[in-house]
Amino acid sequence: MLSYQHAYHAGCRADVHKHAALAALLARLTEKPKPLSYMETHAGRGRYDLHAPEALKTGEAKQGIEAALKAKAIPAEHPYMRAIAGCRARHGGAAYPGSPEIARLTLRLEDQIHLMELHPQEHEALKRAVHADNVHVHNRDGFEGVLALSPPQPRRGLVFIDPSYEIKAEYDAAVDFVRKLHRKWPEAVILLWYPVLDAGLHAGLAEKLDAAALPKYLRREIAFPNPPERGMRGSGLVLVNEPFGAAADLDAAEAYATRAS
Ligand code: SAM
Repeated sequence: MLSYQHAYHAGCRADVHKHAALAALLARLTEKPKPLSYMETHAGRGRYDLHAPEALKTGEAKQGIEAALKAKAIPAEHPYMRAIAGCRARHGGAAYPGSPEIARLTLRLEDQIHLMELHPQEHEALKRAVHADNVHVHNRDGFEGVLALSPPQPRRGLVFIDPSYEIKAEYDAAVDFVRKLHRKWPEAVILLWYPVLDAGLHAGLAEKLDAAALPKYLRREIAFPNPPERGMRGSGLVLVNEPFGAAADLDAAEAYATRAS
Protein backbone atom coordinates (compact mmCIF):
# COMPACT_ATOMS: atom_id res chain seq x y z
CA MET A 1 0.00 0.00 0.00
CA LEU A 2 0.98 3.59 -0.61
CA SER A 3 3.67 2.73 -3.10
CA TYR A 4 2.37 5.28 -5.64
CA GLN A 5 4.48 8.42 -6.02
CA HIS A 6 3.19 11.16 -8.26
CA ALA A 7 6.78 12.36 -8.92
CA TYR A 8 6.93 9.69 -11.67
CA HIS A 9 3.81 11.04 -13.39
CA ALA A 10 3.86 14.80 -12.70
CA GLY A 11 2.98 16.85 -15.77
CA CYS A 12 1.63 13.83 -17.70
CA ARG A 13 -1.30 14.15 -20.11
CA ALA A 14 -3.81 13.30 -17.39
CA ASP A 15 -2.29 16.05 -15.22
CA VAL A 16 -2.76 18.57 -18.04
CA HIS A 17 -6.43 17.50 -18.26
CA LYS A 18 -7.24 17.58 -14.54
CA HIS A 19 -5.03 20.57 -13.62
CA ALA A 20 -6.28 22.80 -16.44
CA ALA A 21 -9.88 21.99 -15.45
CA LEU A 22 -9.20 22.50 -11.74
CA ALA A 23 -7.41 25.85 -12.20
CA ALA A 24 -10.19 27.17 -14.45
CA LEU A 25 -12.94 26.07 -12.05
CA LEU A 26 -11.19 27.65 -9.06
CA ALA A 27 -10.64 30.89 -10.98
CA ARG A 28 -14.34 30.85 -11.94
CA LEU A 29 -15.38 30.44 -8.30
CA THR A 30 -13.23 33.43 -7.28
CA GLU A 31 -15.14 35.69 -9.67
CA LYS A 32 -17.62 36.21 -6.81
CA PRO A 33 -16.21 38.19 -3.87
CA LYS A 34 -17.49 35.62 -1.29
CA PRO A 35 -14.74 33.44 0.25
CA LEU A 36 -14.71 29.68 -0.33
CA SER A 37 -13.32 26.41 1.00
CA TYR A 38 -11.14 24.14 -1.13
CA MET A 39 -10.49 20.58 0.00
CA GLU A 40 -8.44 17.83 -1.53
CA THR A 41 -8.60 14.13 -0.61
CA HIS A 42 -5.29 13.03 -2.22
CA ALA A 43 -2.94 16.01 -2.32
CA GLY A 44 0.47 14.55 -3.20
CA ARG A 45 3.65 16.57 -2.54
CA GLY A 46 2.39 19.88 -3.92
CA ARG A 47 5.26 20.72 -6.25
CA TYR A 48 7.39 18.59 -8.61
CA ASP A 49 10.71 18.86 -10.43
CA LEU A 50 10.34 17.69 -14.02
CA HIS A 51 14.12 17.18 -14.21
CA ALA A 52 14.13 14.84 -11.18
CA PRO A 53 15.18 11.21 -11.90
CA GLU A 54 11.63 9.96 -11.23
CA ALA A 55 10.11 12.27 -13.88
CA LEU A 56 12.90 11.60 -16.39
CA LYS A 57 12.55 7.85 -15.89
CA THR A 58 8.98 7.73 -17.26
CA GLY A 59 9.22 10.75 -19.59
CA GLU A 60 5.48 11.33 -19.09
CA ALA A 61 5.83 15.12 -18.76
CA LYS A 62 7.43 15.23 -22.21
CA GLN A 63 4.20 13.94 -23.76
CA GLY A 64 2.15 16.07 -21.39
CA ILE A 65 2.85 19.58 -20.21
CA GLU A 66 6.17 19.94 -22.03
CA ALA A 67 4.54 19.11 -25.39
CA ALA A 68 1.61 21.43 -24.64
CA LEU A 69 3.99 24.29 -23.79
CA LYS A 70 6.08 23.66 -26.88
CA ALA A 71 2.95 23.73 -29.06
CA LYS A 72 1.77 26.91 -27.26
CA ALA A 73 -1.51 25.06 -26.80
CA ILE A 74 -2.55 26.87 -23.61
CA PRO A 75 -3.14 30.65 -23.58
CA ALA A 76 -0.81 32.56 -21.24
CA GLU A 77 -3.77 34.09 -19.37
CA HIS A 78 -5.33 30.70 -18.57
CA PRO A 79 -5.27 30.11 -14.77
CA TYR A 80 -3.31 26.85 -15.27
CA MET A 81 -0.61 28.71 -17.19
CA ARG A 82 -0.59 31.46 -14.59
CA ALA A 83 -0.01 28.84 -11.88
CA ILE A 84 2.83 27.22 -13.86
CA ALA A 85 4.41 30.63 -14.47
CA GLY A 86 4.06 31.59 -10.79
CA CYS A 87 5.61 28.30 -9.67
CA ARG A 88 8.49 28.54 -12.17
CA ALA A 89 9.22 32.20 -11.35
CA ARG A 90 9.92 31.11 -7.79
CA HIS A 91 11.35 27.60 -8.19
CA GLY A 92 12.94 27.47 -11.64
CA GLY A 93 11.99 26.43 -15.16
CA ALA A 94 11.64 22.69 -14.41
CA ALA A 95 9.21 23.18 -11.52
CA TYR A 96 5.65 21.94 -11.93
CA PRO A 97 2.77 22.80 -9.57
CA GLY A 98 0.71 19.94 -8.23
CA SER A 99 -2.95 20.54 -7.51
CA PRO A 100 -2.35 22.01 -4.00
CA GLU A 101 0.06 24.61 -5.39
CA ILE A 102 -2.32 25.39 -8.26
CA ALA A 103 -5.03 26.01 -5.65
CA ARG A 104 -2.79 28.17 -3.49
CA LEU A 105 -1.71 30.27 -6.46
CA THR A 106 -5.26 30.64 -7.83
CA LEU A 107 -7.26 31.22 -4.64
CA ARG A 108 -7.27 34.27 -2.35
CA LEU A 109 -6.01 34.59 1.21
CA GLU A 110 -9.59 34.67 2.53
CA ASP A 111 -10.24 31.23 0.99
CA GLN A 112 -9.53 28.17 3.17
CA ILE A 113 -7.47 25.29 1.74
CA HIS A 114 -7.54 21.82 3.40
CA LEU A 115 -5.18 19.20 1.96
CA MET A 116 -5.19 15.50 2.93
CA GLU A 117 -2.13 13.33 2.26
CA LEU A 118 -1.67 9.94 3.94
CA HIS A 119 1.88 9.02 2.87
CA PRO A 120 4.25 10.32 5.60
CA GLN A 121 7.03 11.42 3.20
CA GLU A 122 4.64 13.02 0.71
CA HIS A 123 2.90 14.76 3.60
CA GLU A 124 6.22 16.18 4.89
CA ALA A 125 7.15 17.37 1.39
CA LEU A 126 3.69 18.91 0.96
CA LYS A 127 4.02 20.85 4.21
CA ARG A 128 7.34 22.26 3.02
CA ALA A 129 6.14 23.05 -0.51
CA VAL A 130 2.73 24.60 0.11
CA HIS A 131 2.36 26.84 3.11
CA ALA A 132 0.41 29.99 3.88
CA ASP A 133 -1.89 31.13 6.67
CA ASN A 134 -4.93 29.80 4.80
CA VAL A 135 -3.40 26.37 3.96
CA HIS A 136 -4.10 23.46 6.34
CA VAL A 137 -2.19 20.23 5.63
CA HIS A 138 -3.51 17.01 7.22
CA ASN A 139 -1.77 13.64 7.49
CA ARG A 140 -4.90 11.47 7.33
CA ASP A 141 -7.04 9.40 5.04
CA GLY A 142 -8.50 11.76 2.46
CA PHE A 143 -12.03 10.39 2.35
CA GLU A 144 -12.33 10.23 6.12
CA GLY A 145 -10.69 13.65 6.61
CA VAL A 146 -12.79 15.57 4.09
CA LEU A 147 -16.03 14.01 5.36
CA ALA A 148 -15.07 14.88 8.94
CA LEU A 149 -14.57 18.55 7.97
CA SER A 150 -17.73 18.77 5.84
CA PRO A 151 -19.58 21.01 5.58
CA PRO A 152 -16.76 23.49 6.23
CA GLN A 153 -16.81 27.22 6.78
CA PRO A 154 -17.16 28.95 4.40
CA ARG A 155 -19.76 26.57 2.95
CA ARG A 156 -19.21 27.67 -0.63
CA GLY A 157 -16.47 25.55 -2.17
CA LEU A 158 -14.93 22.76 -4.17
CA VAL A 159 -13.56 19.30 -3.35
CA PHE A 160 -11.00 17.72 -5.68
CA ILE A 161 -10.68 13.92 -5.58
CA ASP A 162 -7.57 12.51 -7.22
CA PRO A 163 -6.81 9.01 -5.89
CA SER A 164 -3.95 6.93 -7.26
CA TYR A 165 -6.33 3.96 -7.94
CA GLU A 166 -3.58 1.55 -6.85
CA ILE A 167 -6.15 -1.04 -5.83
CA LYS A 168 -9.48 -1.99 -7.41
CA ALA A 169 -11.42 -1.11 -4.27
CA GLU A 170 -10.55 2.57 -4.74
CA TYR A 171 -13.04 2.87 -7.63
CA ASP A 172 -15.97 1.87 -5.43
CA ALA A 173 -14.57 3.88 -2.51
CA ALA A 174 -14.52 6.99 -4.72
CA VAL A 175 -18.17 6.46 -5.75
CA ASP A 176 -19.20 5.90 -2.16
CA PHE A 177 -17.31 9.02 -1.06
CA VAL A 178 -18.93 11.26 -3.72
CA ARG A 179 -22.40 10.11 -2.60
CA LYS A 180 -21.62 10.64 1.11
CA LEU A 181 -19.97 14.00 0.52
CA HIS A 182 -22.94 15.23 -1.49
CA ARG A 183 -25.30 14.22 1.32
CA LYS A 184 -23.20 16.02 3.97
CA TRP A 185 -22.37 19.11 1.91
CA PRO A 186 -24.98 19.34 -0.87
CA GLU A 187 -23.75 22.64 -2.33
CA ALA A 188 -20.11 21.51 -2.75
CA VAL A 189 -18.72 21.53 -6.26
CA ILE A 190 -17.09 18.09 -6.64
CA LEU A 191 -14.38 17.35 -9.20
CA LEU A 192 -13.27 13.71 -9.46
CA TRP A 193 -10.54 12.40 -11.74
CA TYR A 194 -10.29 8.79 -12.92
CA PRO A 195 -8.05 6.97 -15.37
CA VAL A 196 -9.47 5.42 -18.54
CA LEU A 197 -7.79 2.03 -18.58
CA ASP A 198 -7.37 -0.75 -21.06
CA ALA A 199 -8.55 -3.14 -18.40
CA GLY A 200 -11.86 -1.26 -18.10
CA LEU A 201 -11.66 -0.93 -14.31
CA HIS A 202 -13.13 2.58 -14.53
CA ALA A 203 -16.37 1.46 -16.21
CA GLY A 204 -18.14 0.58 -12.95
CA LEU A 205 -17.26 3.94 -11.41
CA ALA A 206 -18.65 5.77 -14.43
CA GLU A 207 -21.88 3.74 -14.50
CA LYS A 208 -22.51 4.10 -10.78
CA LEU A 209 -21.94 7.86 -10.76
CA ASP A 210 -24.06 8.34 -13.88
CA ALA A 211 -26.89 6.54 -12.07
CA ALA A 212 -26.55 8.46 -8.80
CA ALA A 213 -28.84 11.37 -9.81
CA LEU A 214 -26.32 14.00 -8.73
CA PRO A 215 -27.25 17.63 -9.55
CA LYS A 216 -25.65 19.63 -12.37
CA TYR A 217 -23.64 16.53 -13.28
CA LEU A 218 -21.10 16.25 -16.06
CA ARG A 219 -18.84 13.33 -16.91
CA ARG A 220 -16.25 13.68 -19.62
CA GLU A 221 -13.66 11.28 -20.99
CA ILE A 222 -10.85 11.90 -23.43
CA ALA A 223 -8.79 9.39 -25.36
CA PHE A 224 -5.07 10.14 -25.61
CA PRO A 225 -3.55 10.23 -29.06
CA ASN A 226 -0.89 7.48 -29.39
CA PRO A 227 -1.85 5.70 -26.13
CA PRO A 228 0.54 3.17 -24.61
CA GLU A 229 -0.05 -0.45 -25.58
CA ARG A 230 -1.16 -1.26 -22.07
CA GLY A 231 -2.37 0.93 -19.26
CA MET A 232 -3.90 4.39 -19.32
CA ARG A 233 -5.43 5.26 -22.64
CA GLY A 234 -7.39 8.26 -21.54
CA SER A 235 -8.53 10.47 -18.70
CA GLY A 236 -11.93 11.11 -17.14
CA LEU A 237 -13.45 13.89 -15.04
CA VAL A 238 -16.72 14.00 -13.14
CA LEU A 239 -18.17 17.33 -12.06
CA VAL A 240 -21.07 17.73 -9.62
CA ASN A 241 -22.81 21.08 -9.07
CA GLU A 242 -21.22 22.42 -12.22
CA PRO A 243 -20.72 26.18 -11.81
CA PHE A 244 -22.35 28.20 -14.59
CA GLY A 245 -20.09 28.17 -17.65
CA ALA A 246 -17.81 25.37 -16.42
CA ALA A 247 -18.54 23.10 -19.39
CA ALA A 248 -16.39 25.47 -21.45
CA ASP A 249 -13.56 25.02 -18.93
CA LEU A 250 -13.75 21.26 -19.42
CA ASP A 251 -13.79 21.65 -23.20
CA ALA A 252 -10.60 23.73 -23.03
CA ALA A 253 -8.85 21.31 -20.65
CA GLU A 254 -9.66 18.43 -23.02
CA ALA A 255 -8.22 20.32 -25.97
CA TYR A 256 -4.97 21.10 -24.09
CA ALA A 257 -4.53 17.49 -22.93
CA THR A 258 -5.12 15.99 -26.35
CA ARG A 259 -2.93 18.59 -28.07
CA ALA A 260 -0.23 17.78 -25.53
CA SER A 261 1.12 14.71 -27.29
N1 SAM B 1 -3.60 15.53 -6.52
C1 SAM B 1 -2.16 15.51 -6.74
C2 SAM B 1 -1.82 16.46 -7.87
O1 SAM B 1 -2.61 16.55 -8.82
O2 SAM B 1 -0.79 17.13 -7.78
C3 SAM B 1 -1.66 14.12 -7.04
C4 SAM B 1 -2.12 13.08 -6.07
S1 SAM B 1 -1.54 11.45 -6.40
C5 SAM B 1 -2.46 11.00 -7.81
C6 SAM B 1 -2.32 10.54 -5.11
C7 SAM B 1 -1.76 10.79 -3.73
O3 SAM B 1 -2.66 10.21 -2.78
C8 SAM B 1 -0.41 10.18 -3.44
O4 SAM B 1 0.47 11.19 -2.99
C9 SAM B 1 -0.68 9.17 -2.31
O5 SAM B 1 0.37 9.11 -1.34
C10 SAM B 1 -1.92 9.73 -1.67
N2 SAM B 1 -2.79 8.77 -0.98
C11 SAM B 1 -2.95 7.44 -1.21
N3 SAM B 1 -3.93 6.96 -0.42
C12 SAM B 1 -4.41 8.00 0.30
C13 SAM B 1 -5.45 8.14 1.25
N4 SAM B 1 -6.20 7.09 1.63
N5 SAM B 1 -5.69 9.36 1.78
C14 SAM B 1 -4.93 10.44 1.41
N6 SAM B 1 -3.93 10.36 0.51
C15 SAM B 1 -3.68 9.16 -0.04
